[in-house]
Amino acid sequence: MRPFSLQAREDDRRAARETLFDAVVVGAGINGAGIARDLALRGLTVAVVDRGDAGGGTSSRSSRLIHGGLRYLQHGHLGLVAESTAHRWRLLHLASHLVTPLPFLFPSYRGDHTPRWMVRVGVALYGLLSLGRTPGPSRGLSPAGVLAAEPGLAREGLTGGVEYHDCATDDGRLTLETLRDAHAAGAIFFPRTEVTGGIREGGRLRGVAVRDLLDGAAWELRGRVVINASGPWTDAVHARLVPGGVPRWLRPTKGVHLVFPRERLPVSRAVTMIVPEDRRPVFAIPWGTAVYVGTTDTDVADPDAPLETTPADTDYLLRVTGRFFPGAGLGAGDVLSSWAGLRPLVWDEAAASASDVSREERIAEAAPGLVTVAGGKLTTFLLMARRTADLAARVLARDHGVNVPRSRAERLALLAVRPAGGLAAARTLAAARAAERGLPVDGAALAARRGFDALALLDLMAAEPALAEPCAPGLPWRAAELRFAVDHEYALTAEDLLVRRTHLFYRDPAHGAGVDLTGLSLTPPFQPVEL
Ligand SMILES: Cc1cc2nc3c(=O)[nH]c(=O)nc-3n(C[C@H](O)[C@H](O)[C@H](O)COP(=O)(O)OP(=O)(O)OC[C@H]3O[C@@H](n4cnc5c(N)ncnc54)[C@H](O)[C@@H]3O)c2cc1C
Repeated sequence: MRPFSLQAREDDRRAARETLFDAVVVGAGINGAGIARDLALRGLTVAVVDRGDAGGGTSSRSSRLIHGGLRYLQHGHLGLVAESTAHRWRLLHLASHLVTPLPFLFPSYRGDHTPRWMVRVGVALYGLLSLGRTPGPSRGLSPAGVLAAEPGLAREGLTGGVEYHDCATDDGRLTLETLRDAHAAGAIFFPRTEVTGGIREGGRLRGVAVRDLLDGAAWELRGRVVINASGPWTDAVHARLVPGGVPRWLRPTKGVHLVFPRERLPVSRAVTMIVPEDRRPVFAIPWGTAVYVGTTDTDVADPDAPLETTPADTDYLLRVTGRFFPGAGLGAGDVLSSWAGLRPLVWDEAAASASDVSREERIAEAAPGLVTVAGGKLTTFLLMARRTADLAARVLARDHGVNVPRSRAERLALLAVRPAGGLAAARTLAAARAAERGLPVDGAALAARRGFDALALLDLMAAEPALAEPCAPGLPWRAAELRFAVDHEYALTAEDLLVRRTHLFYRDPAHGAGVDLTGLSLTPPFQPVEL
């Protein structure tokens, strides 16, 4: 198989310049990756470009939840909840190494806008709409029950709570592994390749002009249909592809998460904190040795402006957390790290505030030869991908006479857990292999998050014992994972490795500064020079 790494780049570029692709996908976030996978699995020729790393946009900066959207019930969006819970269930099986059940506690206090009985009804309805396909049970709790579960929660005015289940994921890896699947099915991927314009013929888009941000080369990718999946940058990409031609699609908002050491906020499950002033949910989510709290939701005027966690963002999240966990005494000095992401929210003139903007998606033929998808969420990416791919298929049939088969992407597990026996088999085999090779590694635990890739990782460790070493004390990642990421997951820079292939940057107090990256042949990002 062609390598999914920089090694393939020259060959891929040469081949791509001579190919008329069925589809050229702009953006390798969860939407672009999902669409590429869906189309490649239907047997179409697909090229994907991203000006950064796979998942380097919003798709590695989310709340990392695969959820049914309990709060959509407040707005009566029952269909959306049914759809999301169905996809939560699907991903629990198709990406079982990346999607795991996560218990949530929703505490209620006197004077809450949504009283406890209503939360209980909501959670019951949530369970009903999922048709029993839930990651775990739900139950009502007395105040004493809430405090037994989470002793750090504020006691004053506590009226009880509800426990229910959604799922946690690793958003960046979900995106990357989806793209790796697309690649295995024949798609070609060009990271660090920016779309600078459109190729137009007879009033129709026929491809995109790109610039390679590693060596500065400008070249062209030709496609029967171009798919704009550039998330928060949808309008900017429209402007490049169809100058002056597409009315506004999005109103992006910023969401920030703060990471704390787990001992400073020792929650044992996710806690939903409803902010009385704006009635928004903020979550405290356990994350191994850490816990993260988020998110904020504020308008953003320019999605290309540097995306930062401001003191106001930190204050807001500390204030909320301090109210619910008064004994923790958290301050700005406790923040281990943070991330900020841009929500690609669909533009809606009528929405009053950022938090009221609908999260639903928009998929349309934005201009002749151009299909655009925006909005949605990680949870429903397979559905968005199928709908977008179906629209692209209709354009291909109408304009090019191409007969596109139906999607099978929603029935196939990701590569890492696709072999017979799935995750359970991967765990058993990896445990046996680690023991056989005498490696100081819990093979089953490695397989729990890497599926069958754990076997290749263990082989690397057996060949070079230094690769079995942990990258940082107390954290799960091993040196072999960095090597594997460069050779098989198209990691190019230290940031790719520390921020997305692993989460060392967020979780290690030294932010990965002590990790040995020598011998990994990383690429310093090319600095474009404006002539
Ligand atoms: C704070 C926050 C929390 C969230 N929490 C959740 C959650 O818990 N669960 C959930 O299901 N959803 C969640 N979401 C929603 C979800 O993360 C997003 O809907 C999803 O990641 C969007 O993916 P995308 O592919 O559309 O965009 P992106 O991931 O942003 O991908 C777009 C890509 O386009 C590329 N690009 C842009 N311009 C160009 C160009 N000119 N040339 C080439 N490439 C270009 C970018 O580099 C980027 O990689 C959250 C979102 C945010 C912001």
